Amino acid sequence: MLVIGNWKMNGFRRDGIDRARSLAQLMLRDSLYCKVLICPPSQLLGEIHNTLSDSKIIMGGQDCHSKEQGSYTGDISAKMLKDIGCEYVIVGHSERRHNYGDSDEIVASKAKAAHEAELNAVICIGESKEVYQQGKTIEHLSNQLQNSIPETATMKNTHIAYEPCWAIGSGLTPTTIEIKNTHKAIIEISRKKLLGEENQISVLYGGSVDDNNAGSILEIDEVGGVLVGGASLIAEKFWSICTSANHYSNR
Ligand code: PEP
Repeated sequence: MLVIGNWKMNGFRRDGIDRARSLAQLMLRDSLYCKVLICPPSQLLGEIHNTLSDSKIIMGGQDCHSKEQGSYTGDISAKMLKDIGCEYVIVGHSERRHNYGDSDEIVASKAKAAHEAELNAVICIGESKEVYQQGKTIEHLSNQLQNSIPETATMKNTHIAYEPCWAIGSGLTPTTIEIKNTHKAIIEISRKKLLGEENQISVLYGGSVDDNNAGSILEIDEVGGVLVGGASLIAEKFWSICTSANHYSNR
C-alpha cells in the first residue's frame, strides 16, 4: 500500500515544513507499515528532506523533465529530484496533461528519465467526464497505458495512478464497483505491456479521496493505494487516510 500526498502548488515555507514535521511525528507515534510519500512543491524539497531525515516518510517530485539538464527554464529533471532526496516522481498528472500539453509520449519519456535516475515513476492516467459518459473509459485508459509506459518500466519501478479527471478536486468519485472493474482492467492491460513480469503492477486510485471515503476505496482488492490532492494539505486528514491504508497493508 502506497499513499501519496500531492501538495501541488500549495505551501509556503512555514506551512510546508510544519506539515511535514507533523506527519513525521505521527509516523513516529503510529509506525505504519504502508508507504507514505509526500510530493511538495519543488522549492520545499531540500528543507523537507531534512525534516524527514529520521522518518520513514518518503518524498517525491510532482513532475520532471525528460532531459537530465539544459536550457529548460522553469523545469526540474529527474536526476535533480534524485539528487535532492526524492525517491519517486509523479508523471502525467491530468493537470500537466491538460495545462501543459503533456502527451502520452512525453509522459513516457518523463517516466523513462525517472527510471534512468533511479526514481520510481507514478504514471497517472484517467478519462474525461465525456469519455466516462460515453462508456469508453477502458478504451481510453488502454491507449494511455500503451503509450505512456516506457520500455524501462517494471512492476517494481512503476505505479499506475488511475485518476478520473472528473473526480479530481470535484468531490465526485466513481462507485466502488467501477473502481474495482477499472483497476482490474488496468492490471490486465499493464501485464500484457510488461511481458515477462510475474507480479501485478500496483494501481493507485486518485480523485477526491478523503478521510470519509478512503476506507471503502482502500478495501477494494485491486487498489494498491491512493493519490490524494486536497486532503493531503491537512496533516490529520491525510494521516487518517494513511491509517486506513495501513489497515489493508498486509494483503
Ligand atoms: C490529484 O490532484 O491528484 C487529486 C487526486 O486531487 P484531489 O484529491 O483533490 O481530488
